[in-house]
Amino acid sequence: MEPIVHFLIPLLILLAFKPNLNKKLVFALSIIAIAPDFDYVFGHRTIFHTLLFAFIFSFLVYLVFRFIINYKKNKEIENKNAFYLSIYYTFFHLLLDIGDPGLPLLYPFFDKLITFNAVFRVNLQTNAIKTTSSFVTNPIVQATHEPAAPFITTFGIVLLIIVSLVFIITFIKKKWKFFS
Ligand SMILES: [Zn+2]
Repeated sequence: MEPIVHFLIPLLILLAFKPNLNKKLVFALSIIAIAPDFDYVFGHRTIFHTLLFAFIFSFLVYLVFRFIINYKKNKEIENKNAFYLSIYYTFFHLLLDIGDPGLPLLYPFFDKLITFNAVFRVNLQTNAIKTTSSFVTNPIVQATHEPAAPFITTFGIVLLIIVSLVFIITFIKKKWKFFS
């Protein structure tokens, strides 16, 4: 869940690293970053949290641009950019959600939740590093087990602070270059 984190992080990263992209398009489509969570109607983290959904949804976005918004206008580059931005926003959502209990990423081809857990531990006496990482597949019903979805978590806030700092630094650097 965490709608603020889902919405702001991919947007700030795009604005910081791809400043030449059409801003109107970037802002207009940024709402797609929270679109997958609308599957809470059927069961949160289910059918919209799949790679297939990301592709189908983005293709629909492309069609809307091609045949409605830019109909009879020669704007194929913008239509394609709308597709790529939609892929970016939906994939970013899935990436932020990949933690426990996982996502049905490959549904309907593989009906398990996929998650990746990695922990690196350093033994303070021997300095030995121990790694535990696992590629976990949980049964799909586990996705809807938790009745309460977090609105914001500590991890979300920390991530937001880091990305905001990156954005501010990039912004200041650009202005600095402009005046010097
Ligand atoms: Zn989600």
